[in-house]
Amino acid sequence: MAAANVAEVDLAVVGAGLSGCSLIGRFHQLQSNLNIALIEAGRGPGGRAASRRRRDQSGWLLDHGAPGFALKNPPSKGMEELLSALQSAGVLERNKRPVLSLDAEAALSATTSPEACPEGGWWHGVPCMARICEELLDGAGSAQVRRHFETRVRWLERRNDDWLLENEDRSWSLKAQKLVLSGTLLAHPRSLKMLAWDDVPLRSAVAKGVDIDLDAVLSQLQRMRTEVRWNLMVDLGVPDLKGDVFPAQIWLSEAAKARWKVERLVFQPQRDGRWGLVVHGLDSGEAITPQSQARLLAQEQQRLVSLLPELLKSSSGLSAALNEAKPLGVMRWGASRPLNHPLHPELQWCPKSEVGFCGDWIEGPGFGTAEGAIRSGVDLAEQLHADR
Ligand SMILES: Cc1cc2nc3c(=O)[nH]c(=O)nc-3n(C[C@H](O)[C@H](O)[C@H](O)COP(=O)(O)OP(=O)(O)OC[C@H]3O[C@@H](n4cnc5c(N)ncnc54)[C@H](O)[C@@H]3O)c2cc1C
Repeated sequence: MAAANVAEVDLAVVGAGLSGCSLIGRFHQLQSNLNIALIEAGRGPGGRAASRRRRDQSGWLLDHGAPGFALKNPPSKGMEELLSALQSAGVLERNKRPVLSLDAEAALSATTSPEACPEGGWWHGVPCMARICEELLDGAGSAQVRRHFETRVRWLERRNDDWLLENEDRSWSLKAQKLVLSGTLLAHPRSLKMLAWDDVPLRSAVAKGVDIDLDAVLSQLQRMRTEVRWNLMVDLGVPDLKGDVFPAQIWLSEAAKARWKVERLVFQPQRDGRWGLVVHGLDSGEAITPQSQARLLAQEQQRLVSLLPELLKSSSGLSAALNEAKPLGVMRWGASRPLNHPLHPELQWCPKSEVGFCGDWIEGPGFGTAEGAIRSGVDLAEQLHADR
């Protein structure tokens, strides 16, 4: 049973990643007067483009998910306006540090591979990726957008043409006329195994056959596979690089990825002169369940820490940087990127059930990347604004 006096909003947006925040940022640019609630399981905005802080070290910021992104496709007018506003606010800029490549003998060279050197270059948040989402929300203001962090929606119900959202123990609830899901957690069967849920919440909320668009969304999603990542975070202190400079990223060649099961190394300067390193570890394929997770995290930390001297052996400066290295744990990304079966943009909004979707899993330019996530949020905001 839901609590009595449930708060009511026009629109509930689940997820404060790049797509959910772009949706809200674009609504603000369109001068929408929708009363919005944003619900996010994490401590702050960012999602897979979030930045890790440390309770023991003020000022420490490490991009432990996406460290940046490419803008490879011509932007729509809306996307252009959103990105320009972020650039003008000084929170989005083009990367100027080198990006290197590492081969299967651990030799470093300037890279030309399209994934490491995308057309148009790399863009990143300033001083960290989470700042992009923060800026999008700050622009909208807290009066128009009520934020609920550290709140994971578990239960969805469609009642008298409204949506009812509740957390796991039903101590928090919210009523909304319209609902947007920016992540797939409430709609994809992966949550069954990963979180030991016994139903897919969106499926339970609207029975099969009631809304054919929604049925199409759920059946499409069922087939979508995602990639797992294990990202080791390291504090490198203030290393003496012996004349070398830290690259922004080191991408492993295909043969090197196969040998070490690592995708890339990302180096990030800290305000006080220290450096952070994130090692993007590829998956071993073992199923992640509430029971296996702790063991897998420890296993990956040990594996990735022990690989570092070998990976950096060809640069005396970078090797020396490992002398003071302090591992800060591993972040597991259960669904770091969607790999296939994108959702057709025509299904981004299901009018009958008044539920919509945005995220990097929507079909179109930038599918599976930050660019696609931003685009999908902008497009959905424009569609909903025009439909009013
Ligand atoms: C390790 C890693 C490296 C990457 N590298 C790159 C890169 O180099 N270039 C690039 O373009 N992209 C990269 N990506 C992908 C990029 O980060 C994503 O495409 C983008 O951030 C997705 O944004 P989103 O809003 O679609 O989803 P998300 O960021 O996942 O946002 C969804 C949000 O919804 C929240 N949420 C979900 N369900 C619930 C619920 N039930 N209740 C409350 N909150 C909920 C989640 O906590 C999350 O914050 C990388 C991703 C990872 C993980």
